[in-house]
Amino acid sequence: MCNKAQLVVSFCQQSLLVARTMCLKKTIRRIAVNEAANSTAPEFKVAAVIHRGKRIYVKSVNVPYKTHPNGSGIYTTCHAEVLAIMKAKNIIGDLAGMSIFVARISPLGEIKPSKPCPDCMNLILKNDLIPAWT
Ligand SMILES: [Zn+2]
Repeated sequence: MCNKAQLVVSFCQQSLLVARTMCLKKTIRRIAVNEAANSTAPEFKVAAVIHRGKRIYVKSVNVPYKTHPNGSGIYTTCHAEVLAIMKAKNIIGDLAGMSIFVARISPLGEIKPSKPCPDCMNLILKNDLIPAWT
C-alpha cells in the first residue's frame, strides 16, 4: 500500500511525464509549422517531419506541379509526406515505430487542418509510421 508521500511523488512523476510529452508534441508541431513556410506551393503549404521522440530525421515540404509517384494522379503537388518518407527510407531504411507529423499553413501563415490524403495515409501506415497532424 502507498503512503501519502509516495502517492505525491508518483503523481509528480506522472505529471512531469505528461508535461514532457505535451512539450515534445508542441515542439514537433512548431518545427513542422515553421518548415511548412518553406513550401513554394502557392496555396497549400505543407510540411512533414519524421521523428522518433525528440530526434528529427527528415523534414520535407510539398512541391507544386509534381504528383504522387504511385498515387491516383489527381494531385497538383507532390505531397510532403511522400517526399519525407522517400527521403527517410533512403537514410534510415525501416521506419517502423517512428512518427510523422504533418502541418499545413495558409499563404498568410495561419495553421490549417492537414490530415494526410488517402494515398499518403496508405503510405504512412504501410511504413508503420505513427501519424499526427495539425
Ligand atoms: Zn497526400
